[in-house]
Amino acid sequence: MSDLLSLAAAIASGSVQVIDLTSPLHHDTPILGLPPEMGQTARFELEEISRYDDRGPAWYWNNFTTGEHTGTHFDAPNHWVTGKDLDDISQVPVTRMIGPAAVIDKTAEVAANPDYLLTMDDITAWEAANGTLPDGGWLLLRTGWSKFGDDPAAFANADEQGPHTPGLSPQAARYLAEETKLLGFGTETVGTDAGGAFGFDPPFPCHSLFLGNNKYGLTQLRNLDKLPATGAVVIALPLPIVNGSGSPCRVIALV
Ligand code: MN
Repeated sequence: MSDLLSLAAAIASGSVQVIDLTSPLHHDTPILGLPPEMGQTARFELEEISRYDDRGPAWYWNNFTTGEHTGTHFDAPNHWVTGKDLDDISQVPVTRMIGPAAVIDKTAEVAANPDYLLTMDDITAWEAANGTLPDGGWLLLRTGWSKFGDDPAAFANADEQGPHTPGLSPQAARYLAEETKLLGFGTETVGTDAGGAFGFDPPFPCHSLFLGNNKYGLTQLRNLDKLPATGAVVIALPLPIVNGSGSPCRVIALV
């Protein structure tokens, strides 16, 4: 049997599991809030067109509105000024939406400190245990944060100082973006950067460095606890919005 037919048979039999890493899209899907003087992203809304009624007797359908960066979504390089001349979301090659996953589990550290930042030592320790980060792979930071995904206030975890959510240290972001051949980085939180990243040097280092190096971001992932540290394959499929900076996407993992 060909490799592809073997894969299809393995999925049908359950020997290869398909794990949905996607958060559901609805009115209360958490979105990023910026300071009020800045432009704001729109939450996800459905507008009913007809539902088996006099507006359309046999069919149900909706219009929807939302920001490009709502829910589980894909950041294209042109989302950040460092990548402004690189691909928009419609130009990202489909071959670069699929790759092996490397999962770093910092659930315990984040439970103790929601501002936890992945360090270079964390990466070194992970590579000592699991091998080097995969070329053409997705690095996924497992934090347990998705358990707050149905409660926007808990998900944002903000106080007077701003949001408190985990992410990458600037040093780790620079190493991963500049020294590896990863496709990109995925998180369970509202964006790829930590909640406090506005005050980092550089500000928002994950966005700045990954997108500027033609790498991608994935956010609001769920079910990372169902993935092994290595060996899963992630498929992340954004909509081809022409000139878009990102898109909600369905992200699955083959395990
Ligand atoms: Mn985004």
